[in-house]
Amino acid sequence: MTIDLDALTALYEDLHRHPELGRQEHRTAGIVAERLTALGYDVTTGVGGTGVVGVLARGEGPSVMLRADMDGLPVREETGLAYASTATATAADGTEVPVMHACGHDVHVSCLLGAAEQLAAEQDWAGRLVLVFQPDEEGGTGARSMLADGLLERFGTPAVVLGQHVAPLPVGLLGVTPGPAFAATDMIRVVLHGKGGHGSRPESAVDPVVMGASLVLRLQTVVSREVSGSDTVVLTVGTFHAGTRGNIIPDQAVLEISLRSTDPDVRDRAVAAIERMAKAEAAAAGAPREPEVEVLFSLPAVVNDEGACAQVAAAFAETGRFLVVDPGAVTGSEDVGMLSDAAGVPGAYWLLGGADPALFAGATSIEEMRTVLDGVPANHSPHYAPVGRPTLEAGVAALVGAARSYLERSVALP
Ligand code: ZN
Ligand code: ZN
Repeated sequence: MTIDLDALTALYEDLHRHPELGRQEHRTAGIVAERLTALGYDVTTGVGGTGVVGVLARGEGPSVMLRADMDGLPVREETGLAYASTATATAADGTEVPVMHACGHDVHVSCLLGAAEQLAAEQDWAGRLVLVFQPDEEGGTGARSMLADGLLERFGTPAVVLGQHVAPLPVGLLGVTPGPAFAATDMIRVVLHGKGGHGSRPESAVDPVVMGASLVLRLQTVVSREVSGSDTVVLTVGTFHAGTRGNIIPDQAVLEISLRSTDPDVRDRAVAAIERMAKAEAAAAGAPREPEVEVLFSLPAVVNDEGACAQVAAAFAETGRFLVVDPGAVTGSEDVGMLSDAAGVPGAYWLLGGADPALFAGATSIEEMRTVLDGVPANHSPHYAPVGRPTLEAGVAALVGAARSYLERSVALP
């Protein structure tokens, strides 16, 4: 590797210290644009908000899109790292919140900048690199807004979309899952209508709290009774709001449901079941009108292309530095799949180990590995802390290896 790892580690620690919320990644985008420009990339900023695209074209060859997301999360960092974040920001609802790179998107940005440097230095390839630095993955609007701003029309339809997500697996391990790899997600709001009244006279009211409580329990049967044991669905009722005090029967209850799935037909069946159960509970309670069931937000599953997975896994193996495993589908979600879906091209999105291998040193079986894994803080935890430098080195090598497996090999210029 010819890149300056000390400089890259310093850049990573700086990004970690200065995280920004989704759609507010102005400082990060500025650093990315400056760095890419210095490396000789053709840089466009402000794509879909704060998105940045860097293009490096050399002769005839395929176009390869590499994607990194840039946003942090409203989490108060508790890692105790020397470069921990103390940043705050104003959230969309106007509240002041702490911000942390708790999902490791600073690793993604740093690794892609490192790969940009390495690929710019290597002279023996031909083709076109399209590096996408995407805003707001966590809010689910980033890929969508870059596409709506003409990502494919302005920078061309690539032959493949590649990317990685850092995970609490040991450094040196890469997780590549062909087929569904990250779940689709839907956020669904149910508004149940009752009839308000005095807590002492329930016979003259229709109680939406009881209706809602009954619905929460009934919804548990979507996964256990309506979906095949071989299909993946997770349903969580994350909020349930009703009422103002104990002696008043309120007139409505509002529930927010997070649904995860990997198959669009199964997803449709689960959404239909939620709607059916909400209506049936309302009818059973004698509600004055039908509930509103609204899908607030949807992201499709990330479905990795089998051929692309085999190709990048072979490229990873060729580097001689990685153990490549198939971890199976995870129930977390990602909007990277929208890029390859919109382009109609294969995509491969893999997991990058970012945990200290020393933690796993004593583990001699899968069970022991699992026990260690359970103790390692995971993404979104205030304690989540990938080991910087080794993770960056691995992440750059993985991106470069995967990209080079698609780019044309050419004779190095003298
Ligand atoms: Zn996340
Ligand atoms: Zn993430």
